[in-house]
This record gives sequence, C-alpha cells and structure tokens, in this order.
Amino acid sequence: MPTIICPICGRPTERLIEGMCEECYLERHPVVEIRKFKVLKCKYCGALYVRGRWIRPSKERERALLERLMRDNMEVKGRVDSMEVEISGNSVVYRISGLGTPHELIRPRRFSVQYVAEVAYDVCLDCRRNIWGSERGLVRIKGFPEELRDADIAKIEALLEHIAFEIRGKNWGSIISVEMLGKSLEISTTEPKLARHIANKIHEVLPSDYVESYKKIRGRGDKEVYHYTATVYVITVDEGDVIRRGSSNYLILDVGKGGIYAVDLDSGRKARIPLYRFTEEKTERVGRGVKGEVKNGVFVDSSGSVRINVEGGREGAAYYVEIGDRRYLVTI
Ligand SMILES: [Zn+2]
Ligand SMILES: [Zn+2]
Repeated sequence: MPTIICPICGRPTERLIEGMCEECYLERHPVVEIRKFKVLKCKYCGALYVRGRWIRPSKERERALLERLMRDNMEVKGRVDSMEVEISGNSVVYRISGLGTPHELIRPRRFSVQYVAEVAYDVCLDCRRNIWGSERGLVRIKGFPEELRDADIAKIEALLEHIAFEIRGKNWGSIISVEMLGKSLEISTTEPKLARHIANKIHEVLPSDYVESYKKIRGRGDKEVYHYTATVYVITVDEGDVIRRGSSNYLILDVGKGGIYAVDLDSGRKARIPLYRFTEEKTERVGRGVKGEVKNGVFVDSSGSVRINVEGGREGAAYYVEIGDRRYLVTI
C-alpha cells in the first residue's frame, strides 16, 4: 500500500525519487528531448545543410540526412525503435518511438513523439557560384537599427516594378531575382549599372544610407569584368521613437533625407545626425514618446486620454517620454 505522499503533487506513492513521485519526476525529466531546429535547404538544387556542410543527397539519402539532423538535435534516455520522416510542403514531420526511462528506479516505458521541423530555404555554395557566373550586380537591403518593416518592403517592391518598366527596351541588363534572405532583401542583376541604379533609387525614396563596392571577377587588358555590390540601410525608426546610442537616449523629432533630427533627453540638446553617421553607431529602439500639448501646467496627449501634471513646463506642443523610471517633457 502506498504510504508516502508526494510533496509536489500530493498523490500517495510507493516511494520518492529525488524527493518526488514517478509522475512528477517524469514530468521534469522527459525521456525524449528535442532541441528546436529548422531544416535548411537549397532552393535551387535541394542540398541540405548538415553539420556545417551543404550536402546534395539522392532521393534515398535525403531521408537518412534528415534523420541525422534529428539525431543531432535530440537526446533520448533509452533507445529509438523507429523514426518516420515525412516531407510535406514546407515542413518535415518526424514520428519517433522507442523505449526508455530517465531514472533506474522507474521502469522503462514506451514513448512516441512527433516533431515538425520547418524547412527554411537558402542558396547553397555551389548554386551561389553558378549564379555568380551571370550575376554582375547585387543590391542587399537591410533595415537599421531594426529589421525591414512590411511597409518598407512594399515600397521597395513598388519601386522595383517601376524600374522594371523603366528599363524595358534599354540595354541596362535585367533583374535576375528578388528575394528575402534572412533579414535582408537581395536583388540580383546581370549588369552592375542596373544594381547601382536600383540602390540609388531606393536611397532617393527612402531615408537610407548605402555603401558600395566593386570586385574584379575576370579580365585582362581592356576586357575587365566587375561585380558590383551595394548594401542599402533603410532607416527603420520614426518621429516619436526613442533610441539609445552609447549612453544617451534620444527622442527622434524628424527622419528625412538630410538626416535624423533628435533631442538628447538628458541634456536637452538638439542635433541633426546625417544618415551615413547614424548607421555607424550601435543603435537600439527603447521606447516611444507621446505627442501632445502643455496647457496650464498640464500635458494632454492628442486623444485627450493622457493627462499629466507638469508644473513649470513650457506651454505648447510637446512630447512626453517615459524610459524606465525617468520621465521627460520635450517641448517642440
Ligand atoms: Zn508527484
Ligand atoms: Zn544548391
């Protein structure tokens, strides 16, 4: 008859294992543990990225590689009897069963788990080299300080549509591909000057900064062939955002092509930071100010729902900012 009470769940039990009943122990020490992972696959040739290498498998080998990927990411206290691997669309479904126990005092039990790994697409090194053969220009667009927003991507896409129309019938080359790779949008072209044109246009339309470089890919004498790369940093902060740079917090008053107009919250000093300088320093968005007005010593936001006493504050349009336990009022 059970005589001991589990101190964790209160159920009667025969004995305690490390101070708890079997059920509680199993809950805390699972027989199977799977680290979250994705299957990285080349979108052109189907190669899989396994243990730091791209491997292009045959149809039969693919299953074995996917199985190895799972074994690298799982820990089993016992044995695996079967592992089913099913590839369906953009995911790989694993069904694993076996027998095991996390503790010698607990009788081994059968387990069966299912795990769905998302397939993420990239381009393997071989395919990259093949594209490189015809690619002569690349525009890589990133967000700064945060990732590109949907609205930025929509604007860039509209711009590309316009450019595609603009270059019809001209010998400017063509756009090979436009794709999201990781956090950046990459546009590949057959001609360096087309890539340069695209980088320029994006820079004209969106607050941004860009760096460019040329690399000689082949050529002797006057037959030199260059590959051009531009990296465009699209500014992803807006008026009213609060950012931290170094040890200072700034409230952004305006974002434009001429730079970022901001006020240092502690010193109250206003400054215009050119965009090429803005992207040079580590920057973090830490909050947002509330826009409103100071009247008779009270700050009221534009919707009228925030009212704060600000004795002595200057009258007029203002931002109210809270960062941690510090409060600021910036009249504008
Ligand atoms: Zn228990
Ligand atoms: Zn490939």
